[in-house]
Amino acid sequence: AVGMLAACEGQEPEAQKERILPPETGQDEAVKIGFSMDTLKEERWLKDRDLFRQAAEKLGAEVEIAAANGDDALQIAQAEAMIQGGIDVLVIVPHNAEATAAIVHKAHEAGIKVIAYDRLVKNADVDLYVSFDNEQVGELQARAILDAVPKGNYAYIGGAPTDNNVHLIKKGVLNVLQPAIDRGDVNIVYDEWTDDWAPENAQHNMAEALRANGNQIDAVIAANDATAGGAIKALAAQGMNGKIPVAGQDAELAAAQRIVAGTQTMTVYKPIQNLTAQVAELAVQLAKGEEIMTSVSVNNGKTEVPSILLAPTAVDAGNLADTVIADGFHSKEEVYQEA
Ligand code: BGC
Repeated sequence: AVGMLAACEGQEPEAQKERILPPETGQDEAVKIGFSMDTLKEERWLKDRDLFRQAAEKLGAEVEIAAANGDDALQIAQAEAMIQGGIDVLVIVPHNAEATAAIVHKAHEAGIKVIAYDRLVKNADVDLYVSFDNEQVGELQARAILDAVPKGNYAYIGGAPTDNNVHLIKKGVLNVLQPAIDRGDVNIVYDEWTDDWAPENAQHNMAEALRANGNQIDAVIAANDATAGGAIKALAAQGMNGKIPVAGQDAELAAAQRIVAGTQTMTVYKPIQNLTAQVAELAVQLAKGEEIMTSVSVNNGKTEVPSILLAPTAVDAGNLADTVIADGFHSKEEVYQEA
């Protein structure tokens, strides 16, 4: 990171030069943040988009936002357009952890620093990574399900393998399950990724898990609420919804309603507002050339990326009111309306 700072100074990109000169108006020119998003498909990303814009604007920054609908080439093109358009810092939610390394290189060539938001970019000199602790997400899921089903056949419905978080989540799940697996108490009888996190793919995988095991499945851990929703549809098709524990992640409204209805056991709540507030502040600091100190780093295959990992919370029927509803993440009315 230090080397890169020096390189930026040497190149003196236009945007930086302009900010250093005292502007005619006597006012600082607003920092321009580019926010390159993978998708707006899951409910959470709409919150990420809106709350990030709010947080940045509150700090006097401008935000340009693009979402790529899960298309790698489009995400790269959108980020390139932002870089050429003169952003001061780039915040990216990569669709594909590897493909987006190209964006990091392009940004750096233009003297623009890059924050990996929620998901890490692999094999690139990412300046900062801010997310929830994904390994802990998996641990919380597995602990809740293991408490409910200490012995039995488990189906694991993973996320999209192109998303680095998915591998961290699975690592967390196995941290907790491995001793029970070694004792022969827990048997993972089905274990599959879900391409592009699509609920239809998760449903298809879960149907396959049930078919292959003659419905002898006692618990399901799904990587997020969207995939849990798909898995629960497959369970419902066999009359098994609400009969076996299912874990998810994100505290989506539909998941909160399923927890109330008893078809989903738990979710992992990640207060998006904490993430957007942190990243907006850090983005402005990076854009101004300030140094960021973090206490942890995460290796992305190329470098130790300075990182901030926020704490996720396990939510079930017992603490839904004290967490998700108390925070106003969803209103009580919304959560209970469909139940
Ligand atoms: C995020 C999850 C989200 C998933 C699908 C992951 O990287 O951490 O919160 O559900 O992507 O969009």
